[in-house]
Amino acid sequence: MKIFKNKIQLLEEISNIKDIAFVPTMGSIHRGHLSLIKKAKKKSKNILVTIYVNPKQFSKSLDFQKYPRNINKDITALKKINIKYLYLPTYKDIYSFKPKSKIFLDKFSKNLCGKFRPRHFLGVINVVNRFIEIIKPRTIFLGFKDFQQLTLIKLHLIKKKISTKVVACPTIREKNGIALSSRNAKLNKIQIKIAKKVFAYLKDNKKIILSANSKKKQSEIIDRVIKIGVTKVDYIKCINLKTLQKTKKINEKSNVFIAYYLGDTRLIDNL
Ligand code: AMP
Repeated sequence: MKIFKNKIQLLEEISNIKDIAFVPTMGSIHRGHLSLIKKAKKKSKNILVTIYVNPKQFSKSLDFQKYPRNINKDITALKKINIKYLYLPTYKDIYSFKPKSKIFLDKFSKNLCGKFRPRHFLGVINVVNRFIEIIKPRTIFLGFKDFQQLTLIKLHLIKKKISTKVVACPTIREKNGIALSSRNAKLNKIQIKIAKKVFAYLKDNKKIILSANSKKKQSEIIDRVIKIGVTKVDYIKCINLKTLQKTKKINEKSNVFIAYYLGDTRLIDNL
């Protein structure tokens, strides 16, 4: 595995490679990230992973500062899975040039997490757009857990006629159902138990939640989740995965989306 901390050296190495499979991460590598890499390995030998905690996608600087970072452990895990390139950019590498493509932010960015993290998706599309101009990957591997992010990146690439193809990867979960996330490292034992119960509640009641179309029924569902022991619910919402609109019928291809807090740790999931 070759590690690059500098854009010039990275470009010397990769600029002639046409089939780069790109896996962007913010590090604290877990099995969810590794599943993206395994899927990428089926498409290309030239896998490039980035680890970059992007300050522009955090609304609060404390959240950015407290984001879990484990670079030495990450390097060991990535060496083990045998990827070709790891890029650890500096802020200057990413933000000191003017990208050719402007950011396209679809209106879906105003829904779900966009309502609670105002500049988050602008920050996400900004960094991904810049990474793609630097790396020029053939494919980019993204997790379905972050469905809104995945969708907004896809829509940006289509709108800006960028040829990089998005490969969506399924959510990897613990045996107890909790979606793997770097933020899980911040949970204590009690909070893990609560997260497990939230997952079980959503899974067992998916149909009921999808059909709850009155404000009253929806707030009853939020109350149920609060009673399980979560600190705060940002939203529980049902979205049709094709139209990106609120679900109207239960037989549509729809998922329940949730964002909630355990202490000051914010978790998202959809199922
Ligand atoms: P992050 O490091 O949290 O920014 O995530 C990097 C990539 O890994 C994103 O495309 C995520 O959607 C994906 N990812 C995060 N958690 C999981 C998971 N549990 N299963 C599959 N992919 C995931």
